Amino acid sequence: MSAPKPTPVFSATTNACKACTPLGACLAFRGVEGCVPFLHGSQGCSTYIRRYMIGHYREPIDIASSNFSESSAIFGGGENFCTGIENVIAQYDPSVIGVATTCLAETIGDDMNLMMHEYRAAHPDTSVPIVHVSTPSYTGTHAEGFHAAVRALADQLAEGGPREPRCVNLMPGMVSPADIRHLRELCEVFDIQPTILPDYSDTLDGGSWREYHRIPEGGTSLAAIRAMGRAAGSIEFTSVCDESATAAPLLSERFDVTAHRLDLPIGIDATDQFCQTLSQISGRATPKRLAAERARLIDAYIDGHKYLSGTTAALYGEEDLVVGLTRFCCEIGITPVLCASGGNSGNFETSIRHISELTGNTQVIANADFAEIEAAITDNKPDLMIGYTRGYAVSRRLDIPLVRVGFPVSDRIGAARLLHVGYRGTQQLFDRIVNTLIEAKQDASPVGYMTM
Ligand code: SF4
Repeated sequence: MSAPKPTPVFSATTNACKACTPLGACLAFRGVEGCVPFLHGSQGCSTYIRRYMIGHYREPIDIASSNFSESSAIFGGGENFCTGIENVIAQYDPSVIGVATTCLAETIGDDMNLMMHEYRAAHPDTSVPIVHVSTPSYTGTHAEGFHAAVRALADQLAEGGPREPRCVNLMPGMVSPADIRHLRELCEVFDIQPTILPDYSDTLDGGSWREYHRIPEGGTSLAAIRAMGRAAGSIEFTSVCDESATAAPLLSERFDVTAHRLDLPIGIDATDQFCQTLSQISGRATPKRLAAERARLIDAYIDGHKYLSGTTAALYGEEDLVVGLTRFCCEIGITPVLCASGGNSGNFETSIRHISELTGNTQVIANADFAEIEAAITDNKPDLMIGYTRGYAVSRRLDIPLVRVGFPVSDRIGAARLLHVGYRGTQQLFDRIVNTLIEAKQDASPVGYMTM
């Protein structure tokens, strides 16, 4: 019997498998109509975040900053905050300002509530809502910043009132603009009027302009966010976030809006659960056209099974996405040998192990960096990697094909148009995975087969 491998000791993160927490908050704020994301901290943070987001969405993205100097870092950023908010209101005429704090502002302990109070006292005529979320990046990930901003929007803006039975709140997490559009369509076939928070399907995937718009059209309206306390129910896609970290439990507790927490609807099983929830809320059966999409997907699973049988994959990225992909891989016959995430919610491994179809020895690593991921992939030698662009270097070094999903996908175009959810999105992801495996096999063959 071989001796167990020693546990590697790391003194520092090497190539983190996550992005910064305020980035997720800025993304969420970009999905609110008329909202300007505002970072309280140094200018470099907003430059880094804009660069990251533009690489993925390929759209111009403005993120305001209170632009800390050395003196703000020592004496506090209150003055910069007030000047920054004044400038944003003067130049953008926003309907909401979403303020997220950077590492520096959190480290020096700037009191945001006091600053907002002082700003209001000095500007009694300004009625623009300012939503604040605390996002120290050294304690979290971009996904946590995203959920925190969504919760802050619901917390600080939603109102109660008479129930609106056709309205449902949908908090899908960090899905693509194409996913958001499809989720809206799915709700509408059940005659449900969804408030999707956030909705960046237009703001980050819109048409071309003749002239620059400081705030792009689209996003969840302030009125719709205010009405979230009156909805018939809330649906959010997460299995790793604590209830204290997301919006649906808050709306349930404060306004008695029933919360439904589901896995990301990737795969037949998870999409069935989403559709059943929509059916339960609306009282309508699943429409025929959805049943037809489901049937086509099952047919594709049958067509593709001979290419997938016996294959293995390494999955990495944002925690909820990796859980959804793991469930999907198990459903289509791929064995996940590695499930890794830079997130450290404490619930990642439990959510993965909870997947009943999971068989074999799957290594699960939370709080992972790419040094650990590469070591595990070297040991496990999977046929495929599924994750975002940052894994490309590992994929290239180890000569393992990479299917790009998650955030960011910055070495291909079309990230905003990648569809993953529902039967239709699953179909597209399934085809991409199968074709990637076929292509690798075809390229590796000395014969040059044209039928695979
Ligand atoms: S300093 Fe913190 S908030 Fe700023 S870019 Fe780096 S991780 Fe993000």
